[in-house]
This record gives sequence, C-alpha cells and structure tokens, in this order.
Amino acid sequence: MAKAVGIDLGTTNSVISVMEGGEATVLVNSEGNRTTPSVVGFKEDVRLVGQVAKRQAVLNAKGTLFEIKRYMGRTWDEVHTEVERAPYEVVRGDDGGVRFVVAGEKYTPEEVSAMILRKMVADASEQLGQKITKAVITVPAYFNNAQREATQNAGKIAGLEVLRIVNEPTAAALAYGLDKKGNETVLVFDLGGGTFDVSILEVGDGVFEVRSTSGDTHLGGSDMDYAVVNWLADDFQKEYAVDLRKDKQALQRLLEASEKAKIELSGLPETTVSLPFIAMDPASNAPLYLEKKLTRAKFEELIAPLMARVRGPVEQALKDAKLSRDQVDEIILVGGATRVPAVKRLVKELLGKDPNQTVNPDEVVALGAAIQAGVLTGEVDDIVLLDVTPLSLGVETKGGVFTKLIDRNTTVPVRKSETFSTADHNQTGVEVHVLQGERAMASDNKSLGRFKLDGIPPMPAGMPQIEITYDIDANGVLNVSAKEKSTGKAASITIQNTTTLADTEVERMVQDAARNAEEDKVRKEKAEALNQLDGLRLQAQKALDEATAATDEQKQPLQAAIADAQGAVEAQAPKAEAEAKTQALATALQAFQQAVAAATASEAEPTPEAGPEASGDDDVIDADFKPAS
Ligand code: ADP
Ligand code: MG
Repeated sequence: MAKAVGIDLGTTNSVISVMEGGEATVLVNSEGNRTTPSVVGFKEDVRLVGQVAKRQAVLNAKGTLFEIKRYMGRTWDEVHTEVERAPYEVVRGDDGGVRFVVAGEKYTPEEVSAMILRKMVADASEQLGQKITKAVITVPAYFNNAQREATQNAGKIAGLEVLRIVNEPTAAALAYGLDKKGNETVLVFDLGGGTFDVSILEVGDGVFEVRSTSGDTHLGGSDMDYAVVNWLADDFQKEYAVDLRKDKQALQRLLEASEKAKIELSGLPETTVSLPFIAMDPASNAPLYLEKKLTRAKFEELIAPLMARVRGPVEQALKDAKLSRDQVDEIILVGGATRVPAVKRLVKELLGKDPNQTVNPDEVVALGAAIQAGVLTGEVDDIVLLDVTPLSLGVETKGGVFTKLIDRNTTVPVRKSETFSTADHNQTGVEVHVLQGERAMASDNKSLGRFKLDGIPPMPAGMPQIEITYDIDANGVLNVSAKEKSTGKAASITIQNTTTLADTEVERMVQDAARNAEEDKVRKEKAEALNQLDGLRLQAQKALDEATAATDEQKQPLQAAIADAQGAVEAQAPKAEAEAKTQALATALQAFQQAVAAATASEAEPTPEAGPEASGDDDVIDADFKPAS
C-alpha cells in the first residue's frame, strides 16, 4: 500500500515524517535537514523554498514570504496586526481574503503554503523512492473551521490527498503513546519560532479531547534571536558608532549568528559570536569585526522579559480547564524553543513537575501526524478515534425520521447548516430534537437535548425557512441553533462532549445500525411516503379553502381524496398505500384546479392562475416540522 506522510506545517519550520518498520521517522530534506524553514523566496524567475529562502530573507525583504500560517483561513479584517509587522506586501483580495504581492504577482496564503508542502513532499518522495500523494497535516488546536479548510486546500493545491487535519497537541500526545494509557490530563507546552500555545488535553482509550487552549501569538524563539541581535548591535554601535541593524546585509548575518548562538547555548555554557567584515569603519574606512562572547547566564538575562510572558497563558489554560496544576498528569514539550534550558526550568517551576522531553520537541508533532497517517492507511491498528465525531449527529424530522447533519467520523471542529420548514399551516413554533446515532428513525438514536423556537409568523406549511446549524468546536462542544429567516428569531442549545463516547458504545451503536439497516430503511421510507402524502393533503386543503368560487360539485371529489389521505396518515398506512393515495390526491387536485381555472376563464375574469404551492421536498422537523430543500 502507498505510504501516507505526516506533516507539521509550522509557522517557522515544517517537518515531514512517515511510518517505517512500525516506527514514526522524520524524513530529511534535499539539503539534509530534518526541519525545513516555512519560507518562500521569489528571486527574479527563481522560487526558493526553505533554508535558501530563509538565508536571503532580510536582503530580499519584499520578495520573501514567511510566517504565512498566521494568515491561513483568515479574512483581511482579521490580520491587521500581522500586516503591520510584515516586511512584504499584503493586500486585501476581492473576496475579502488575504493576498501577498511579490513582483506584481498575487498569491493566496494557501498557494504559498502549498509551495512549502510541495518541496517537503518532493524531497520525501525522493528519499522514500515512491511518490507520496497522501498526508495528514497538523494545525494548532485553536484553529477554526476556516483555518483548517485553508490548510486542507493548501494540501490539495500541492497535489495531496489530505487524509485528515489533526491538532498539533493531539499529534504530540500520540507520538508519546499517551493514547494507550488510561485517562490522563496532558498539558502540551509549545514554544515555536513565533508563537506560544498551551493546550490541555484529556486523553484516554484513543480519544483526545481538547479541554482548553491559551497562548501568545507573538512569542517564540525568533524573539530570543532579536534580543541577542539588539544586544550585539547596541554594543557595536557604542563602540564604533555604526548601527548594524540599518545595513540589511549585516542584519541578516547578525540574525543568523544570533540564532546559532541561542541554539548552541542550549547545550553549552557559553559561545562566541564572530562576524568578520561586518561593516566598514566610517572614520578609517577599514573593515570592522564583531567578536563577542555570550554566556548562558547573559542570554537568560536577555530573554528574561520574554520568559515572564509565559506564565499568564499557562495559568489561563489551567483556569479554563478548571484544573489545578496538580491535576496535570503529563507535560509535553513541543517546539524548538523549548530546548532552551531556561524554558524547561520555567515549565517545571510553573507546573511543579518534570516535563516529557524524550521525543525531539521540534519533531514530535510530525511524528504524531505520521502515526495518525498510519492509522488511516491501516498500517497502525491499535488506535481508534481522534478528534472526530464518533457518531452521526442530526435532528428529528416529521414522522420520527432521523435527518443527519454531520456524519460520523467527521473531524472537528465542523459546522453544517440546513434549512427546514413547518409541516402545518400557521405553525408558530417548532421543537428541535438533537440526536446522535446511526439509525434511520429518531427513537432508535440517542437523544442529546431539545429546544423550542417560537414566534414563527403564521404562514402556509412549507413556507417558513428555518435554518438549523450544528457547530462542533475543537473541544467537542456542540452548539445547535435554529433561526427563522424572515424574522431572524433564533434559539439554541449547547451540548458538551459530543466527541467523547466509550469505544464500546460507539461500536454497539454502529453494529446496531448495520443489523437494523433493512428494517430501518423500510420504516424510514414509509415515514417519508406518509410525510409526502400529508404535505400534499395540506396543499390540497389550502387550494380548496381559497377557491371560494368553486361549486360543491367541483369540490366534492377533492374533498373525498383529502379525507382519504387524512385517514391513511392517521392510520399510518403502509408505504405502497401512502404512495397510491398521494397519486390519487395529486390527480384530484389537478382536476380541481383545471375545473376552477376553466370556470373563471369562461367568466372572463382575469384571476391569477392557481399555481402549485411551494412545498414538497423540504424536511419537516419533529412531529410538526420538516426539512426545507
Ligand atoms: P514552529 O512550530 O513555529 O514552526 P519550531 O518548533 O520549529 O517552530 O521552533 C523554531 C524555533 O526553535 C526557532 O526559533 C529555532 O531557533 C528554535 N530552536 C530550534 N532548535 C533549538 C535549540 N536547540 N535551542 C534553542 N532554540 C532552538
Ligand atoms: Mg510548531
């Protein structure tokens, strides 16, 4: 079977990984590196991706796109902060989205992300000796539906089949094998290049539930780099009266050297930054050297203001999950910047526990994604569910039918809307009954809750447009809302934990549905046939009531057919009978309308034609409620 890869499409760096011999393994890129900078550079006709693009970023500020993930799935109005910071040109697209402009060409965030994905996958295919077409891609837990969709589209543009979008903290927990433990509370501490994310997960029996997320969208390793750059440049300026930050070439070299020093200090107590020919002495016109020792202690002093910003989000995440730090069972470090010893110390101090760090923090997310990819291709078979709806979710419609809005195994978060209508004339309220399960009839499924929407203005059956929306967030919380479109009147209900169900229960419900599929189908078709008959009956009754000029003789056959239909509906007649009566009623209605029209025409009165009512295929919710098309 063709392999599927796991990709951590990061703000700063991306990593690609695959299952090999039952183990998740990181694949190296064509430059021989395990991580690829998420940077795309445009230089004349050449497009650079990764390390080569990063290396010319400062020199080619307008032509180098980085931190593109910040714009994924967001509208122009949501990205003002990012646009202000960006050295490249960002404009509003005609669709209200974001476009990057390089040398007169416009690119969407999805297209730029696709360029990164393309390189990663091409290098991986080369290394594996087979063309890779399937992938699992990770996103932050707080990403909304639009951001996830944009990520999925980036994959598509890159020619990939995106098997699933998985939460980064979930992938990290998976890489640590935490899914195999009993119920545990896991805090994932992710300090990357430019973002800080804290997520608290509830993990157990293959199910991951995000309890809370918090963070700082502008805090990460590159802020540490700039702290070092500023320290070096300030010092240099004092000595030589030259501001290195004003010279792009010098700044690029300073940045690279500072990041290198930071990384070295994760393993060594001190390092030396040495940059020959960094500038010209304005006085003597002689070349100037920068050579400076940086100790870990000094570095920690430089980043102290950044470290102080870590505490708040950690406390917030605990508070939102209603947990004390003692209730956290495991802490996982994610993100390259957590390799800084001061960060590890701080985590331990804040949470009173040693964090897990046996898996490389900059690779752990991609490794988890590869495991998830293995699960989806059948290579790994001991994990069942991940951030998905374990069962279908839907609403009860007329005749006790279960109408699905969200299918089982849909990745959350997800949002779906459908329009329904009323079953009776002048019906002013509907009851929305929210259910979960795989059976065709509502009564066989699990009831999650119900609520009423009142105040629908009196209208003929089938006319009101009631939009029902199911919205499940990343935490598995389901919000169901109903809105009557003409008045905007709305009502809603919130249901917790729709993604957490014991495997055994899911299994039972799925098997139940399979076993009863035939019988359920018959019952559902019967209910639908009766619904159709009843709908037509209402329509016929209305035509009858409105045709004031009709004679008793004209009315009689239709009245008889209506009474017959009503009798069949009340007696819950079998499907064939319901269908026959629908046919008979339709014929009677048509004959009646023709007779009335002929009569009015002969009286030469210009009356508008009695057209057929707008009704029919819309479902109706609850006993007196049906779906609109
Ligand atoms: P992201 O998730 O934002 O794409 P990463 O998790 O790859 O980013 O983190 C990138 C950051 O980690 C960069 O700022 C990089 O310099 C930093 N980093 C990588 N390795 C180390 C290390 N050994 N010590 C300190 N910082 C590191
Ligand atoms: Mg990351």
